[in-house]
Amino acid sequence: SFENVGFIGLGNMGSRMANNLLKAGYKMTVHDVNCNVMKKYSDMGVSTKQTPFEVAEASDVVITMLPSSSHVLNVYNGPDGLLQGGDLLTPQLFIDSSTIDPQTSRKLAVSVSNCILKEKKENWENPVMLDAPVSGGVVAAEAGSLTFMVAKICNNLAMAISMLGLSEALALGQSLGITASTLTKIFNSSSARCWSSDSYNPVPGVMQGVPSSRNYSGGFASKLMAKDLNLAAASAEEVGQRCPLTFLAQNIYTEICNDGHETEDFSCVFQHYYSGKSK
Ligand code: NAD
Repeated sequence: SFENVGFIGLGNMGSRMANNLLKAGYKMTVHDVNCNVMKKYSDMGVSTKQTPFEVAEASDVVITMLPSSSHVLNVYNGPDGLLQGGDLLTPQLFIDSSTIDPQTSRKLAVSVSNCILKEKKENWENPVMLDAPVSGGVVAAEAGSLTFMVAKICNNLAMAISMLGLSEALALGQSLGITASTLTKIFNSSSARCWSSDSYNPVPGVMQGVPSSRNYSGGFASKLMAKDLNLAAASAEEVGQRCPLTFLAQNIYTEICNDGHETEDFSCVFQHYYSGKSK
């Protein structure tokens, strides 16, 4: 049984996921490098630890929700990391829900499965690591309705390109004199309907409760989308798959980040890329 849940990485997604686990009654131990976040949880009466290793010591299952591969490697293998305890580990299960490259996940899964449980449980001798990235964004994280999946990089590649396509269509439509709200209504009852148009609209004021309605804050940062597109582009190159739109999307998100919008939600391309006129 997994009564004691460790949670590391309490950012936009992790904090919402952890809050649902708290609500569901799990005994939580948490860690984040951000002191303000730690303070928030200790004020709520949640047990906070200074290192991933201390979280592992207190948990049956440890969930990580960190920005990218380097952070996950650091939390697992770094000094005072989750695997610091040598071959003997307390948690039975490690779930990484960050979106990272498959090579890093595989490497960590092997390290974990080579360890032994401190206390053998129900014929379970070796701890297990699951690569379980999520889809659904901050809204689903809050509602407890995230989809856990494999093939995450391909999902985000399709999502980036549909967001760019939708933003381009909305920007052109507006330049031709139709409001974004009208365009959205038309798209949502026509064949252009997609998640970006009906659940995550990029135009400020068209939908409530999405990042575009709060200055593109509190969503999925453009730099994280750029990271996922880099992973997709590298994977495409590795297997020789033709993916021209992936490379184009990668360039656009790199430009958005270089222009200083890296922490804004990825739907900000509508504002910063498509709303600018070409000469
Ligand atoms: P975020 O940057 O908001 O949160 C990351 C948290 O990890 C921060 O609180 C940060 O302080 C903490 N952190 C960083 N390094 C750490 C370390 N070494 N030890 C402990 N804590 C550390 O990111 P996010 O938006 O919550 O995304 C997390 C992951 O989920 C990413 O891989 C992202 O690609 C993926 N994802 C995000 C969304 C979304 O809509 N935001 C949706 C699906 C998947």
